[in-house]
Amino acid sequence: QSKGEQILYSIHEKVSEFYHYYLNNTVNGEAALQYLLKRNLTQQTIDDFAIGFAPDNSQILWQFLKKEHFTDDELINSGIFYLSENSQQLIDRFHGRLMFPLRNMQGKVVGFSGRLMSEDTSKRSPKYLNSPETIIFQKNQLLFNLDRARLPIRQSNQVLICEGFMDVIALTQANFENTVATMGTSLTESHLKQVTKLAKEVVFVFDGDDAGQKAIARAFELSVAFPNNTFKSLIIPQKMDPDEWIQQHGSESFQKLIVQALSPFEFQMNYLKKSYDLSNQQELAWYIEALIKLIANIQSPIEQQLRLNNLIQEFNLSESLVKEQLAQANYINK
Ligand code: ATP
Ligand code: MN
Ligand code: MN
Ligand code: MN
Repeated sequence: QSKGEQILYSIHEKVSEFYHYYLNNTVNGEAALQYLLKRNLTQQTIDDFAIGFAPDNSQILWQFLKKEHFTDDELINSGIFYLSENSQQLIDRFHGRLMFPLRNMQGKVVGFSGRLMSEDTSKRSPKYLNSPETIIFQKNQLLFNLDRARLPIRQSNQVLICEGFMDVIALTQANFENTVATMGTSLTESHLKQVTKLAKEVVFVFDGDDAGQKAIARAFELSVAFPNNTFKSLIIPQKMDPDEWIQQHGSESFQKLIVQALSPFEFQMNYLKKSYDLSNQQELAWYIEALIKLIANIQSPIEQQLRLNNLIQEFNLSESLVKEQLAQANYINK
């Protein structure tokens, strides 16, 4: 660990403590605390994740850090501060935001994400602001909560991967502790490398909107590089995200969704089904042809046989015809 890294870690630790204190113990933090409680986070959860609030006036944090003997250059290097336009003072880029510390696998704070509390993001957009990348923070590698979730992931042999860290926080509070999230970037092979070592089953718990559906398709594409793991995706109805679902329907209902999570084949089959009008003979034929191509892609020969049998039975097809089509699809795949 270089001297530069040590200083960055120590700035982040101090700033995280400061934001958390400011949220819980000052008049200026009251509205932020109320916002969190209104979103059904308990005080325990707020403390466990060390959620905080960044004062609107950047000078308060700057003065606190000066007493800790950090230099302006170090504070700018941390990504938390930048120099104001007239170069007169340092500004906390997160000022006025709800603050979520981001921790690496060792549990050290390496960055922050700050959320605006008003839904009107036009004035000071965007809704979420992340720390810039530094020598201790790489956005496309970090999984939120992996430090705390590691043991539960090992013990359950399952990991839930979400899009948003608010989802992780809600799920953890609802006792789904084997949960992590990417930091607003799409899933990478590096993310999957980290979790596939810890558990056999990986469940994608993305938002139920169209973007989430696209993200699932992409995530399944990445998953073929990990043949020793099983992958599933959970479809949350009514375009909700995991947090919204838990708030409205409770954790038992979420457990049911996990049990019903779809395999890559089932997910793609569902997607195909929605893309064709199956009451039209022509489109039905296209659907079956597309389905055979999907079946040709299945890795496990046994699963392939089972899916094939289902298809033959469901549409009352001739076995030899379907096998011929499968052989053709296999040929094209190679
Ligand atoms: P909330 O419930 O507080 O609105 P969310 O987790 O549902 O939060 P989404 O809009 O679904 O938020 O976004 C999911 C994730 O994508 C967030 O956790 C954040 O990491 C990232 N993200 C969302 N909007 C932005 C943005 N404008 N800039 C950067 N990252 C963002
Ligand atoms: Mn979303
Ligand atoms: Mn969401
Ligand atoms: Mn949400």
